[in-house]
Amino acid sequence: MLDIKFIRQHREMLQTVADGKGITLSIDELLRWDERRRKLLQEAEALRQERNVHSRDIGRLIGEGNREAAEQVRQDVQETIRRLSQVEAELAEAERQFTLLAMRVPNPVSPDTPAGRSDQDNVEVKRFGEPPVFDFAAKDHVALGELHDLIDIPRGVKTAGTRNYYLKGAGALLHRAVQQLALDLLIGKGFTLLEVPLLVRTEALTHTGFFPFGEEQTFRIAEENKWLVGTSEVPLVSYHADEVIELSEPRKYAAVSQCFRNEIGSAGRDVHGLYRVHQFAKVEQVILCEASLEQSDRMLHEITGHAEELLQLLELPYRVMSVCIGDMSQKTYKQFDIETWMPSRQAYGETHSSSALLDFQARRSNIRYRDAEGKLTYCHTLNNTAVASPRILIPLLETHQEEDGSIRIPHALRPYINGLERLVAQ
Ligand code: AMP
Repeated sequence: MLDIKFIRQHREMLQTVADGKGITLSIDELLRWDERRRKLLQEAEALRQERNVHSRDIGRLIGEGNREAAEQVRQDVQETIRRLSQVEAELAEAERQFTLLAMRVPNPVSPDTPAGRSDQDNVEVKRFGEPPVFDFAAKDHVALGELHDLIDIPRGVKTAGTRNYYLKGAGALLHRAVQQLALDLLIGKGFTLLEVPLLVRTEALTHTGFFPFGEEQTFRIAEENKWLVGTSEVPLVSYHADEVIELSEPRKYAAVSQCFRNEIGSAGRDVHGLYRVHQFAKVEQVILCEASLEQSDRMLHEITGHAEELLQLLELPYRVMSVCIGDMSQKTYKQFDIETWMPSRQAYGETHSSSALLDFQARRSNIRYRDAEGKLTYCHTLNNTAVASPRILIPLLETHQEEDGSIRIPHALRPYINGLERLVAQ
């Protein structure tokens, strides 16, 4: 939750950002509840004092033998207590309404964030490599998967319903190989690898900014009142919740995890193949750093660069997009998406998402450090995908296919797949 003083001072800007991010919220209404709860707080405090003073008076009057006056004051106290409990009930309701609305307030966006309503309005800032031009009838990843016995979607659907799949043999090995390549890259850059909980409490999702808006995207284990994470960003950021951490150097964490997503709202979209599935694996980068815009920006470019490096190792053409306000989530201050060329779509498709969140998550998660003056300060957090599979298998299989149906394995992956240089159809 943003600082209420900040909200009061920037009501117009925050309303514009909420509208731009498509969040239904009236900052004026929030501030009316804020005023009401503060007024009720004062009233409750005054009534408590009145009650205490009167209670003391009763004792004193009884001590002086003045029973009649004591009885009168006792009746006044009863009335004060009745009014107090009424004000306390009103205060609890005002606090509830205030918190509900305050949890919807968006993080501001960086001044260079493009205007726009959807991913169609994102702005390309960089392009790397040339999309391949095939002089034969190229196959899509599903056909290549069948040909090489790598992907089995019908059996995935049989076992688990739509948007599920099995990866098999070299398909499963490739899936693991890209993850291990990404992990080794991050570890080489000083990231600490964490194995993380994937079934988490509601608070972890609220404090990392996935709730209230992401609730319907998240699978709940009702009996446990816990949720399956859609990304290891949640446990990685929550790792330091309610702590004061040492931050002379940015903290860099990586995790590889299964990610579970309901994909409500995507009905009918990307139903073919492995693009949009309910369960996938992701290697994630999370950074906690000092609350400095300059350092945050440097870290954002750094983690975006790691994803680019990975794609270059996989020899895949991609472009970097500056994400517009309408395509940003509540918590995001600045975002780059990386889209990798997917031959079967004849288009770039999103494979990575790199975000700077300023202190939005740290405030909610209560993660602080001592700044140069020794003042306790909320840190900044950032995150980016290093690789997400099986989506990355789409460009990997399709881009490196050859006319006879074989698939060339990029050099950097070979050590992770027993030196295999190509997949040859049997
Ligand atoms: P996000 O955590 O939403 O920023 O997503 C990061 C990356 O995870 C995306 O760029 C995709 O590569 C991958 N991803 C997200 N959702 C799905 C999904 N439903 N199915 C497959 N991959 C996904």
